[in-house]
Amino acid sequence: MGKSARLDLVTLAIAGLATLFAELALVERKFALFAGGFGQSHVLDSGAEIAAFAVAGLAAHALLFALIFAVIARLHGKERDPWLFRLNLLVWGAGGFIAALIARFEVLSYFSDAVSFQLIRNLGGGSLFDAFLFALSEGALMLGGGALALLAYALIAWRLRKRAGRGLEEPGLRVGRALVLLALAVPFVALAANRIPDARYGLNKLTAYALANDALGAATDFDRDGYSWFSAQIDREPFDAARHPLALDVPGNGVDEDGFGGDLILDALDSPLAAPRLSGKPKHLVVIVLESTRGDVLGKRVNGRMVAPNLEALARSGSAFPHSYSHVGFTTASLKSLFSGQLDPRAGDPSLFTDLKAQGYRIGVFSGQPESFGDISEVVGMKRSADVLVDAETLKDERAFSFAAKGSLRIDESKLLREFDRHMGDKGAWAQPHFIYFNFQSPHFPYHHPGLPDMLGVKPLPREQIAPANARRVQDTYWNAVAYADAQIGAMIARLKALGVWEDTVLAVTGDHGEALFENGFLGHGHVIDAAQTHIPLVLSVPGMADARPLGLKDMRGLLLAALGGADAPLRARPVFLHIGPLDTPAAIGMAEAGGVFTTLALETEEVWFSDNGRRARYDALKGADKARADRLVGEWGRQRWMKHLAGR
Ligand SMILES: [Zn+2]
Repeated sequence: MGKSARLDLVTLAIAGLATLFAELALVERKFALFAGGFGQSHVLDSGAEIAAFAVAGLAAHALLFALIFAVIARLHGKERDPWLFRLNLLVWGAGGFIAALIARFEVLSYFSDAVSFQLIRNLGGGSLFDAFLFALSEGALMLGGGALALLAYALIAWRLRKRAGRGLEEPGLRVGRALVLLALAVPFVALAANRIPDARYGLNKLTAYALANDALGAATDFDRDGYSWFSAQIDREPFDAARHPLALDVPGNGVDEDGFGGDLILDALDSPLAAPRLSGKPKHLVVIVLESTRGDVLGKRVNGRMVAPNLEALARSGSAFPHSYSHVGFTTASLKSLFSGQLDPRAGDPSLFTDLKAQGYRIGVFSGQPESFGDISEVVGMKRSADVLVDAETLKDERAFSFAAKGSLRIDESKLLREFDRHMGDKGAWAQPHFIYFNFQSPHFPYHHPGLPDMLGVKPLPREQIAPANARRVQDTYWNAVAYADAQIGAMIARLKALGVWEDTVLAVTGDHGEALFENGFLGHGHVIDAAQTHIPLVLSVPGMADARPLGLKDMRGLLLAALGGADAPLRARPVFLHIGPLDTPAAIGMAEAGGVFTTLALETEEVWFSDNGRRARYDALKGADKARADRLVGEWGRQRWMKHLAGR
């Protein structure tokens, strides 16, 4: 290899590696592929995962930069000036890639998110207008920097051009053969790496790999059904568009469209809940939703202290439902199901809010989160129905943290009770039936905020120390926050008693989903179907309704209306259906049956898990009772999908 070719190779290596490291740093910052953390279930933590990620990621990146090299070389032609060519490779190849990264990762908005509104306001000397100018000047600074860099490039390119015309004295680097080899190797490497789910997840965060994999997918999706040899689930019927992974199985046509459970046998569909008829003087309804609060809160002790004495007392005098579940394990869908009585309601569908509004209730919402988050309020008709609505948006100056993102707006429970006193503290008004929805946010990650007391003698852990190595203290900190929320339940019960309405009130306390606390290395919710992430508490103040059969959040609307005397108790002969991701394209499905026993199916790996004996097996390998149990799950999934589709969505 001549000197010129060697210098070209060095330049190409610099461009390729600098961009790869820049991308890895941004990907790690955003998705924590290696470090893991809150809400991250795809961690590259085994040798095979890391090796697959490294080999396939490097191969795809090398292919992309070999291609960029070839294109820029072609644009320069045979007589290329070696230094102008290398400059262009760095500026347009590497620089262009990095500019694309900045756009893709919204690096600029990251900076503005990290700078809190309050901070900007302070920087602007307290004036909103000055703060605006300040924010503007930051953006202007970035633009100015970019313009300067371009100017420098133009100057150097002009200088090089002036002494150009000498052309290439000796042959430069040729990448043709490497390009062909990489183009042949990448499909095989991708095919293998895609079979390791965490590696596939991480690799698709890399630009070069995602581009290559998408192109390969498009090229092998022969029947254009969206599934190929490179999709997460491989299309085993590549020439039949009706049959592919996650296809909606048409019942009774003798074809197993989705490859699970044979042809679907569609059982009876649930009929929608009728509007309630409440007679006489209906009871008040108070629903308290505890954010991220696990079902095992009842009976939980930390340092010998009861975590939730108020909830436990309520369970003793009222009714407990020890096998209650969130269908999806995340906030917005859970709350929509709770109020609407459906897995996936649409805006305008009936809900507890519209039910009780129609029955003449006065409605109050006191929530520590923004209820417009994920369209909760819109879908369940909350804002339209509420006489009083106080949430983290209306109280945004009193939030616990000063982050800008909507999901992180949280208000301490004590402020919600203060607002309750202000708006609902008049005894006389309670002649009218009341429906009050509280949402208590303290148990949400990071499980502590300024002003939250140490209830359990645990010394709450600061956010930056939340890590697997501190799992035990993370758990203590979490339960401490739950204990605080429980104390606020007690304060609320005391208020209802002081108002003289306690005897005429149905109080329901539940959770929106659970929370994994590093028990299996994972922190957060909505990623795995298991007890930690989907089991929730449910306690009613009404005695005589206790029921140990499995119950999902979507059963609660009917249950609460029954507790008010306006409906029959809901039938619950079926397992509770659980899913991760959209109902039609879930990453996993599951069901909770009698005794809190789970069966799950991960659709990417086709692995079935039986919680009672801990067994994991591929769906194909199941026989007898195990197969029947997995097929019961697949059948329930089909039933839920058809209910959604027949309702016109
Ligand atoms: Zn939540």
